[in-house]
Amino acid sequence: MSVLVVVECDKGEVKKSSLEVASYGAQVAQALGTTATAVAVGEASEASLASLGEQGIGKVLYDNDARLKEFVNGAYTKLIAAAAKQEQAQVIVLANSNIGTSVGSRLAVRLQASLATNVVELPRVEGGKFTVKRGAYSGKAFSDVVLVNDRKIIAVKKNSIEALHNAGQTAQVQSFSAQLADADFADAPKQVIMQEQTGGVPLPEADKVVSGGRGMKGPENWHLIEELAKALGAATACSKPVSDVDWRPHHEHVGQTGITVSPNLYIACGISGAIQHLAGVNSSKVIVVINKDPEAPFFKAADYGIVGDVFDVLPKLTQAVKDLS
Ligand SMILES: Cc1cc2nc3c(=O)[nH]c(=O)nc-3n(C[C@H](O)[C@H](O)[C@H](O)COP(=O)(O)OP(=O)(O)OC[C@H]3O[C@@H](n4cnc5c(N)ncnc54)[C@H](O)[C@@H]3O)c2cc1C
Repeated sequence: MSVLVVVECDKGEVKKSSLEVASYGAQVAQALGTTATAVAVGEASEASLASLGEQGIGKVLYDNDARLKEFVNGAYTKLIAAAAKQEQAQVIVLANSNIGTSVGSRLAVRLQASLATNVVELPRVEGGKFTVKRGAYSGKAFSDVVLVNDRKIIAVKKNSIEALHNAGQTAQVQSFSAQLADADFADAPKQVIMQEQTGGVPLPEADKVVSGGRGMKGPENWHLIEELAKALGAATACSKPVSDVDWRPHHEHVGQTGITVSPNLYIACGISGAIQHLAGVNSSKVIVVINKDPEAPFFKAADYGIVGDVFDVLPKLTQAVKDLS
């Protein structure tokens, strides 16, 4: 019996959300009196995998088949299932990312496992019951879910748990092969279109996000958003109507029909706070709203509100951040 953690890697590095997942898995293993092993997917360097020891991982399995560099649902599922069987994993922990939730549901069928997505806390294990807390109704509520099958799969929501950092601890990296055939790559993407990331920080991974709405008036004013984002080391985002009229690319649109983010800091500039927008951002730790209308609905969800004109407030805020850093 063990805990298996699925670690997503990109350009040689372990993603931040996977450091949280690794820490989560290590703590679950400790509570169950067992060990946590990771299986890495994507392009990983040996050094970054070994450093997972800092998050409490003892061993990392890595299949360096070049076809696994980009996400392929069928092949990733087979690889993780093979690792779970080898390690006799009772609990599998992954990120509540596009990859994690998509592979998680396939794994649940393949391994006859219970699956809980959007999990925000460590599980409670009492009297044989294994209970997890998950966000529901777009983060407006929480539900406790009992995982009843012998095997349990948990998809952990980003920023729900602090990543552990036991400096100097290293994990043992072992090569692993799931003997993948060409047929396992049948659902591989035919073409991968790379989009230039503005602001330098990938939006789904970002710790801080500066976002603009229709109140920014036009794309020519977006330098105000970008300057604040650069000063803070944040990613940039926007509301749906902004991307609908091509002021910004669609991969920046957050909300019910866009990307869901849960950064530590979300700054909304000239965004009304419609329910469909809030659905994608309301689990951010701290929300700052800048809007000239004191009745804007977003103020109800805000931790800090600035009633003012974005063209007046943003340059001053950016200067204040620069002065502090
Ligand atoms: C099925 C469905 C799905 C949807 N999905 C999404 C989604 O995923 N994401 C999303 O964002 N929307 C979504 N929407 C659209 C959503 O309902 C709102 O229309 C949208 O979020 C509004 O965008 P906005 O706040 O940028 O614009 P507006 O509603 O036009 O608000 C602009 C705000 O800027 C303020 N403002 C104006 N000028 C200034 C200034 N100079 N300084 C400061 N403030 C200023 C105004 O007071 C106002 O509050 C969806 C709608 C539907 C029906």
